[in-house]
Amino acid sequence: MEFATFADRVAAIDAESADLEIIAHVRELLEDAGDDLAVVARFVQGRVFPAWQSTTLDIGPNTCYEAIARAAGTNVSADDVEERLAEVGEIGEVAAGYDFGGQQGLGAFTAGGTSDALTVREVFETLVDLAATSGSGSHDTKVDLLFGLFNRCESAEARYLARLVLSEMRIGVGEGAVRDAISEAFDVPGERVERALQVSNDYGQVARVARDDGLEGLDAMDLEVGRPVQAMLAQAGTVTDALEEWDEAAVEWKYDGARVQLHHDPENGTDAAETRVFSRNMEDVTNALPEVVEFAEHTLEEPAILDGEVVAVDDDGTPLPFQEVLKRFRRKHDVAKAREDVEVRPVFFDCLHAGGDDLLAESLTTRHERLEGLLADDPDQEPESVDGLSLLWRTDDPDEIESIDAKALEGGHEGIMLKDPDSTYSPGRRGKHWRKRKPDVETLDCVVTGAEWGEGRRATFLGTFELSVRADDGGERRSADAAVDSQNLATVGKVATGITDEKLEELTELLEPHLASEDGQEVDLEPEIVFEVGYEEIQTSPTYSSGYALRFPRFQAVRHDKDPRDADSLERLERLREV
Ligand code: AMP
Repeated sequence: MEFATFADRVAAIDAESADLEIIAHVRELLEDAGDDLAVVARFVQGRVFPAWQSTTLDIGPNTCYEAIARAAGTNVSADDVEERLAEVGEIGEVAAGYDFGGQQGLGAFTAGGTSDALTVREVFETLVDLAATSGSGSHDTKVDLLFGLFNRCESAEARYLARLVLSEMRIGVGEGAVRDAISEAFDVPGERVERALQVSNDYGQVARVARDDGLEGLDAMDLEVGRPVQAMLAQAGTVTDALEEWDEAAVEWKYDGARVQLHHDPENGTDAAETRVFSRNMEDVTNALPEVVEFAEHTLEEPAILDGEVVAVDDDGTPLPFQEVLKRFRRKHDVAKAREDVEVRPVFFDCLHAGGDDLLAESLTTRHERLEGLLADDPDQEPESVDGLSLLWRTDDPDEIESIDAKALEGGHEGIMLKDPDSTYSPGRRGKHWRKRKPDVETLDCVVTGAEWGEGRRATFLGTFELSVRADDGGERRSADAAVDSQNLATVGKVATGITDEKLEELTELLEPHLASEDGQEVDLEPEIVFEVGYEEIQTSPTYSSGYALRFPRFQAVRHDKDPRDADSLERLERLREV
């Protein structure tokens, strides 16, 4: 296809705003693309390379301005191009405004060496050469190559070449439009195109297979070890929602690290294993994370694609804050030195491919079982002792979820993830099947009015703290002498989670002097201490004297700076309930 034809078609799409019309234009473009179908299917989305490839053109705006300036004539400089850009605001418009052609001289690369019409293929091949250029002198070579293209462009061609090169295509063609256009052009169902796109991450290949091999070809496309898949994403959500929607929730710890996708092939057709590690954006980060490569080589005996998180840890294996992982994640130099300063460890929570089987369409439960099988040293090993395995609990019991949450926090993790155990793996989707438990938006400052002695290991600690809010009105509160006693407090719930043993000991020391009475394990406390607590929801409830209950209350902190008169009131509780 001539590049001018492509540019004209793209201009028509650019002028269109209705989705259906856009899809119809893309469909025609794909139908007419001939041998260039794969390239056209990517170009129309503003992509030169498949999404899974880490290759980028790596062209800075200045390189592009220089090439445009040179093609525009001797009296145009890169600064002029930049100035025009500042005026018109868009590089395509700037490039389209010059009269190119006829600029000869040194470095006038006309790819293919002809002065005939530029073709889509020539543009693509030149951009491939350009992406492969690196090292000293590469800037000049890139300018030469681009100049060679611009020099052969008419106005419309220049507009879309400039946009393509700077990744600013912006003609309103999203992934959905290309999927639908492929489906219509080659008469294959949209969802099968979608599946093929998920496994391959290459619109070009999918379009070609759909046209040349039809549905059978599409369905035969599989994941490839070494080619990254888009990561499945999570929405924010609550325990309440999760348990309402699913019979049971799969509960996992939420690790505070960076997402990684591990591709490992123990044989790779040769004797050497091949391991690649990709970031959430499918960038190749293998060289920065030797620990993950070593883990794979040591643990995996079958080809596998695993999804997980790398976490920075201290010498005892305790997780360190997210910022520490960042010191390692994209590092290109001095990796060995950085590794001495901050160690990272992978934890895997999903398995997309194992031993020749693609698992995207399997349930989370099945995928997790396969994961455990891959990582365990022997089949009878307890999951807790499997190195690199994220644990998964299936439960419909909110209390159990709370205690998993408490353990997660105690272990230095971020909190919990709630997942639908029956859900398949949807690459690139931020769906409802994975939910990260919402952080507390609002917190309440509550007076601690009671507690219970713990059991077993925790027998000498107070725990399960009864929380109350002020039931007096705000006016009285401000009078300095208005004492707070059980008469003007109303209970709202009990908090037992989010507290480590160490913290329990500290809280016991703080509260014990305020013990008012004891009855078995239960104690009443003088209202002296204020806790800040988070919660998921405020519900009406006959259980507590306020008439309300905090759903899933979580301990946040002792408010040493507040006394009970500064605690939150029933009135605020009622207001928060309404929002
Ligand atoms: P967020 O970055 O806040 O949108 O939370 C989602 C991210 O949490 C994922 O992309 C992962 O990087 C990370 N994460 C940590 N632990 C898990 C887990 N058990 N399951 C899924 N994602 C997790």
